[in-house]
Amino acid sequence: MLYDNLSINEKGHLTIGGADVADLAAEYGTPLYVLDEDVVRRNCRTYVKAMHENFGPDAAPLYASKALSFKGIYPIVESEGMCVDVVSPGEIYTALAAGFPAAKMFFHGTNKTDEDIEYGVKSGVGYFVVDNLNELEVLDRVCGECGVVQKVLLRLTCGLDPHTLEAINTGRVDSQFGVPIDTGQADDFVRAALACENIQVDGFHSHVGSQIFESDSFIRQAEILTSYAAKMRDEAGLVLKALNIGGGFGVRYTEADPAIDIAARIEEVANHMKAACREHGLDLPTVYMEPGRSIVADAGVTLYRTGGIKEVKGYRNYVTVDGGMTDNPRYALYKSAYTVINASKAGEPANFECTIAGRCCESGDRIAEGIRIAEPARGDVIAVLSTGAYNYSMASNYNRIPRPAMVIIKEGSASLAVRRESFEDLIKNEL
Ligand SMILES: *Cc1c(COP(=O)(O)O)cnc(C)c1O
Repeated sequence: MLYDNLSINEKGHLTIGGADVADLAAEYGTPLYVLDEDVVRRNCRTYVKAMHENFGPDAAPLYASKALSFKGIYPIVESEGMCVDVVSPGEIYTALAAGFPAAKMFFHGTNKTDEDIEYGVKSGVGYFVVDNLNELEVLDRVCGECGVVQKVLLRLTCGLDPHTLEAINTGRVDSQFGVPIDTGQADDFVRAALACENIQVDGFHSHVGSQIFESDSFIRQAEILTSYAAKMRDEAGLVLKALNIGGGFGVRYTEADPAIDIAARIEEVANHMKAACREHGLDLPTVYMEPGRSIVADAGVTLYRTGGIKEVKGYRNYVTVDGGMTDNPRYALYKSAYTVINASKAGEPANFECTIAGRCCESGDRIAEGIRIAEPARGDVIAVLSTGAYNYSMASNYNRIPRPAMVIIKEGSASLAVRRESFEDLIKNEL
């Protein structure tokens, strides 16, 4: 099995966190998102422990909640000592509704509207991660009106492309996120922020990308940001108190993806960052990282039931399921690979080659192509692994398909965390 929380029981059914997925499908219906809370907690602990050990007790991982935002996730990550990254007033609202403290929120977003900025300030978010000069001006004004001094990190781009490290100073300077160091524009951004009366500049934020398996890009980024902080200390009087080096550690979607030792990677990054700080005569700042996918992806499984199973003679077999791009658009968007199991026959050999297609009237509605599962019959439960991240949070109602329910598994038993949408939900805002 791809993950150690998955197993096969005496009925030949797949189990997740000890729960039989055929029972879950029967009780809660399909499609169904299943989230193993123990795995989420284990992932949080890996980050919290490694960051405390290597960066000191003030360091913290932020859970990037865009990966999976619903009320139930926030108390879990909070109790594990995580802060959160929120990218919209909707995520702030959800986290607040779940009782998550605003002071532990970092408010991201490349286009925060004036209303968003006011909402963030009035909510009392701990940090704004300021993306650009326009945002800075509005934030300073709103904070003045509210009588608040807002802590901020300035979002910078380091000119790194995580997948082609040699191509430094090319593609990634050209980004809609943050302000580039390489073009000199970050200097003006930092000076402008330092001059704002109602803003306290604690440091920088930078995020290189996603599905990263090595530490190189984090190390390069830490080096670039510390050296830049030293330059701005000398030229503009910046005092670096905090550094957020972003998220992006990869997860295993299939056996082809490597397993990654996150604690060891964090130690490597910390060693380089400490050395860079020494070299530039800087105190080690409070370090933040922002994992999203690597907190929740491997904790999630999506269950479907098979409908039509058809062979297009001379071409391939199609297995259609009762969900698809509406609950998981990642194959349609990025051709993302997934591990798929016939969970009703998990003990049988996976020798039926097929394409898993969704139920939408859309030829791109697929979950996987050219995979092998145990020979399916109509009504079998199909499990798609590693769907905890960027599935529920990216779901839509295309074709007027209600979003699935979500259950959380804790110590082997399931409880409903998100109700299945009803047809009334589909039309409730329509006049
Ligand atoms: C998406 C994102 C993350 C999380 O990325 P993962 O690949 O899910 O770890 C963190 N920080 C920022 C700014 C992001 O945009």
